[in-house]
Amino acid sequence: MKSVTVVGSGIIGLTTARSLQEAGFQVKLIAKEKFAKTLSSKVGAIWFPFEIAPKEKTNSWAAMAFSRYQEEINPENGVTFIPFINAYTSESNNDWVKQLPAGSVQEVEKAKLPDGMEQGLIAEVPLVEPRLYLPHLFEDFLVHGGTFHQAGISSLAELAALDQFVVNCTGLGAKEICQDEELYPIRGQILRCTKLKEQSFADPTKKGALIYLINRSGDTVIGGTDYENDWNEKEDLSDTELILDRLKKSGISQVPEILEVLVGLRPKRSSVRFEFDPDFPNVFHNYGHGGAGFTVAWGCALELAEIIKKEALRT
Ligand SMILES: Cc1cc2nc3c(=O)[nH]c(=O)nc-3n(C[C@H](O)[C@H](O)[C@H](O)COP(=O)(O)OP(=O)(O)OC[C@H]3O[C@@H](n4cnc5c(N)ncnc54)[C@H](O)[C@@H]3O)c2cc1C
Repeated sequence: MKSVTVVGSGIIGLTTARSLQEAGFQVKLIAKEKFAKTLSSKVGAIWFPFEIAPKEKTNSWAAMAFSRYQEEINPENGVTFIPFINAYTSESNNDWVKQLPAGSVQEVEKAKLPDGMEQGLIAEVPLVEPRLYLPHLFEDFLVHGGTFHQAGISSLAELAALDQFVVNCTGLGAKEICQDEELYPIRGQILRCTKLKEQSFADPTKKGALIYLINRSGDTVIGGTDYENDWNEKEDLSDTELILDRLKKSGISQVPEILEVLVGLRPKRSSVRFEFDPDFPNVFHNYGHGGAGFTVAWGCALELAEIIKKEALRT
């Protein structure tokens, strides 16, 4: 059996590692940070294709991930489905609707929409709580013979020398490893609050004025910001005020008790890098999933395992 090393222990690395194990490979995981310190550990995370490209691939990956989460529903592991309202305009790409089972998406009456939202669709979509799901994936990985080693990688040559096959799931870290000019951050600030009773929703229709609320099992996440090329990983107090103000304007009068303010940098490209490296053909890149890593992770992971399986048979 050929062996594969996966670099990166966020949602992309962990799902990649598990799907390679399912495909019969011996898998090692290497990462600079353990899963609990990654960007992936900080976020929502709701199933919705936000700030990710290209459209066609995203749609099929998101559909595969949706089915996988359906099979995995288990509140103890952080996978549930919740009703979620999504705002849209005539300009919005509503292709995600086609990925869901027929009849499962409904138009919401104007009176039932958050204030300021003109049109919205409601559907039951996966909620994947990182606090529970990442440790679950990691445990599963170890149970299936995986090993973990904490280390930083600084170049493509170093990456390629790690194993027979290597999958690069380093998110924004790939910028330095691959000298990737196309990869850039979209800064997101969110407020983790005590649980609110409100309906979960997102309004991504106004660039620079993103607002969303995700009710999870033990808390509520309120967002957010979407600032391109902003590398600031610290809380910006004016963003916290902006987010609270937008929440109030959406008709929520209850002032949330903030438990934590979190900042994350979405790893965005003009398209997700999903290919073998032209110079190091044993390296497969799987990074740049923008604001939708959880939404597409399993789709990418399952497709990639098939590609590597074929390549392993050929070489
Ligand atoms: C505020 C916010 C809210 C979001 N909400 C959602 C949501 O609701 N739904 C959704 O689907 N997505 C959401 N996202 C997007 C999602 O968080 C990302 O797409 C996803 O976390 C990216 O996962 P990743 O595994 O590629 O990267 P990461 O989680 O960053 O993991 C990268 C891994 O690579 C390792 N690494 C990096 N560089 C090196 C190196 N040089 N050597 C060795 N290891 C290295 C790191 O240590 C880490 O282990 C949100 C993002 C933000 C910022």
